[in-house]
Amino acid sequence: MTAYDQPDANGHFGPYGGVFVGETLVHALDELRDAYARYRDDPEFVTEFEYELRHFVGRPSPVYHARHWSEQIGGAQIWFKREDLNHTGAHKVNNCIGQALLARRMGKRKVIAETGAGQHGVATATVAARFGMECKVFMGSEDVRRQAANVYRMKLLGAEVCEVDSGSRTLKDAMNEAMRHWVTNVEDTYYIIGTVAGPHPYPAMVRDFQMVIGCEALVQMPEAAGRQPDVVVAAVGGGSNAMGIFYPYLTHDAVRLVGVEAAGDGLETGRHAASLTLGTPGVLHGNRTYLLQDVHGQIQETHSVSAGLDYPGVGPEHAWLKDVGRAEYQTVTDTEALAAFHDCCRLEGIIPALESSHALACARRMAASMSPDQIILVNLSGRGDKDIHTVAERGGIVF
Ligand SMILES: *Cc1c(COP(=O)(O)O)cnc(C)c1O
Repeated sequence: MTAYDQPDANGHFGPYGGVFVGETLVHALDELRDAYARYRDDPEFVTEFEYELRHFVGRPSPVYHARHWSEQIGGAQIWFKREDLNHTGAHKVNNCIGQALLARRMGKRKVIAETGAGQHGVATATVAARFGMECKVFMGSEDVRRQAANVYRMKLLGAEVCEVDSGSRTLKDAMNEAMRHWVTNVEDTYYIIGTVAGPHPYPAMVRDFQMVIGCEALVQMPEAAGRQPDVVVAAVGGGSNAMGIFYPYLTHDAVRLVGVEAAGDGLETGRHAASLTLGTPGVLHGNRTYLLQDVHGQIQETHSVSAGLDYPGVGPEHAWLKDVGRAEYQTVTDTEALAAFHDCCRLEGIIPALESSHALACARRMAASMSPDQIILVNLSGRGDKDIHTVAERGGIVF
C-alpha cells in the first residue's frame, strides 16, 4: 500500500525496535511473528477482521467538522476522526480484535493483558467475551485502587483481574508480571499488547491493526472536506492511535504529522511523560526506543493528568519518525489539555478523553496561526466519560 518499508525483518525501525527479551520468550515471539506473517494478508483473516470492525465496533468512524470551535479560534478548520464513537469508546478495541482473531488461529484459548488506567484491560476483556476466550488482566494494586470502575467493567465482562503487588504497583510492574505469566503458559496463552511497543512483531502488528483509522480518513476527508488535511494531530502515549492515523499518510509528503506528548505540570518540573521530547534512547519492554531515564539508566517516574499518556517509553516507530523528521512531536501541559477538554464539551457537544484533549490543545495552538482555508485533522482517540472524576477534582464543575 505504501512505499514505506519499515520495520526490517528483525523488527528494526532504523536503530529502534528489535527484540530484547530473555531466551525463554524468543520461541514464543518467533511463533507469533510466523503466525502474523501467515495471516496478515490471508483473505479469510482480513474478511473476518473487517466484519468485526463493522458489526461489533461500528466502523467506519466518521470525520466531523468542529465548526463552532474552529470559528471561535479564527484560524484553520479543525476536523475530528471520531474514534470516541467506537464500541468501548476508544481506538484500542481495533487492535484487540485483530490480536484475538490471530490468537484463535494459533490455537490459543486464553488471552492475557496488562493495563495501567484499565482501558486496554477493558478492551481485552471485551474481545475475550466476544470470542469466548478465558481472560486474565494484570494490573498494579495501586492502579486497581485508582481505577475501580474499569476493574468492575472487566469483571462484568468475565475477566479475572490479577493484582500485582511488587515494585511501585503500577503499569511497569503489571507488564513484568504479564511477561512472566506468558513465559510459563505460552502453550495455550496469547499476550495481547495494547500499544505499538514491546518486542517485534508487536509494534508493526499493532500499527497494522490500527491503520484502519488513517485508511478511512484518507477516503473520508476528500469526500467531506474536499481535500486531505494540511496537518494530522494525535496524542502519543505508547503511540498506537497516532501510528494508526499517521501510517497511511506517511507517503503524503504535503501532510504534516504531529504527535503530542504529555508535558504534565510542565517540562521544567520533571513531572511529565514527554519521552520523545526529553528522553534518550535505551531498552524497555523488549525494544529500543526513547525513554525517560536517569544517567544510570533507571526509569523515571512519569506524570500526566491523563492516565493513558503516563508511560516512560514510546513505540519505536515514533522514535524513528522523529529522527528522520517525517513526524514532529510537541507537548501539551495538564492545564492546556483541560482547557481544550472544556472547549470541546461546550462548543462541540463532545466529551473527549483526556488523552485526546492533548491533541485538541495542540490543534488549537496550531490553528490560531493558520488560515481559515487550511485543515487540521485531530484523531479523537476516545470519549471522556472515564475522566469526569479527574476533571472535577482538577477544578472543573463540582461533581
Ligand atoms: C490508551 C489511550 C491512549 C494512549 O495510547 P496510544 O497507544 O498512544 O494511542 C490515547 N487515547 C485514548 C482514548 C486511550 O484510551
